[in-house]
Amino acid sequence: MDGLSAPAPNAPVHGRWQHSADPRRRNTHAIDRQDCAREPQQSSDLPPAATFVDPLKDKLHDRGETSVICRHLPGVLLAHQGFALPIRLLIAPTLLMLAVPVTAADPRAAGDPIALARDGAAAIEDRRFGEALEAFSEAAAMRPGDASLCFGAGVAAFMLGQNDVARTRFECALALDPGYLPPAVWLGELHYRAGRLHDAISIYETARRRSPSGRELQRRLADWRKEQELQSRFHEIRMTHFTALFAAPADEPLARHAVERLDAAYWRVGDALGVYPPQPITVVLYTREQFGDITRMAAWSAAAYDGRIRVPLGGALKQPEELDRVLSHEFVHAVVAMLGGRTVPAWLNEGLATVLEPEGRGDAEATLPHANVRPELSTLHRSFVGLSRRDAEIAYASAARAVRRLIEQRGMAALVALLEDLGRGAQFASAFHQRIAMRYEDFAARLARD
Ligand SMILES: [Zn+2]
Repeated sequence: MDGLSAPAPNAPVHGRWQHSADPRRRNTHAIDRQDCAREPQQSSDLPPAATFVDPLKDKLHDRGETSVICRHLPGVLLAHQGFALPIRLLIAPTLLMLAVPVTAADPRAAGDPIALARDGAAAIEDRRFGEALEAFSEAAAMRPGDASLCFGAGVAAFMLGQNDVARTRFECALALDPGYLPPAVWLGELHYRAGRLHDAISIYETARRRSPSGRELQRRLADWRKEQELQSRFHEIRMTHFTALFAAPADEPLARHAVERLDAAYWRVGDALGVYPPQPITVVLYTREQFGDITRMAAWSAAAYDGRIRVPLGGALKQPEELDRVLSHEFVHAVVAMLGGRTVPAWLNEGLATVLEPEGRGDAEATLPHANVRPELSTLHRSFVGLSRRDAEIAYASAARAVRRLIEQRGMAALVALLEDLGRGAQFASAFHQRIAMRYEDFAARLARD
């Protein structure tokens, strides 16, 4: 696209990760987790069963009216799905409750924690998670004994990928109200995605005992126990940037090879983005059957990232080039999660992971000329995980083309800055406009004509 002004400058360095022109000198801070997958994807996600119930329930409704909405429980498959729809549905009752007139025009000036919490709930609905975190945090400071305000702050922090903050806020909510199920559901998910299976199970077991609705956690709990039992038999290789878990001693050479390839991706992708995850990332190597059991992903999925890289070691992955491609792809998802939290649109996440595959994946867009209908970018914000194989191919190709265009026009630094903005809580369209120097709708329209 010609005639566009220069992209906005890079965002400042964020405390959660490192940028460096000379990465080998850097090694600090925490990497956050999130989920997504090769083929299935998405960085965006929320504990599905999860239930952003009503953050104001203690004040506006009694416990019975606002009980948790756990129709069915997460499962990894759901954990990979986008959350736009669920979060809307789950928050809807909250908004109805909040339809009562707001008393303070400026809740901060008025020191009104209820009005602040309303602002926070509305911000979550609009996916302005940075503002939501701020509003709920201020409200919680005014009313430190209110578990629902801690919970609201925890949800916002979770969506921003600020896992340490989210954990603290959920734990605060549970300390204030041990029978409050939603923060337990989200905290359990947070532990799970960080690879802390034992803690996740412990949180859910306690919640099941304490809350009348806790029995609805049973299925998820059973999945986690099964995974824990399987994983207890796994072997481990620890390296500086990656830890590999694998089932059979005979797979150790392959596991070592996988870690070496990941390490190569670490430097290659890091050099391209100027970003290097400071904390080790775990890769779990499964048989195809174990992978299917644990992730419940579509048969066409080659691997997954949900805080850990999960790879089935089927025949294809014994081909060095395919293993390289898959590991690199999933590693990019880990970096995107670290930079952008859980609100990065699927097309951006998948497109970047595809474009940064070794050798540039020149064939990534090969399906596009043969596609009868190309999806609009706005339809590719949610995870691709539920798509058919054919639709997924077209979605990945469209995502790759969009990201390649952005890189050609604005450079990789603008994309990294955009991701960082999302990690700080910016809305996608406004962050896109600022960093890419054009309106998102205009970019999508031009791409459609491409
Ligand atoms: Zn992917």
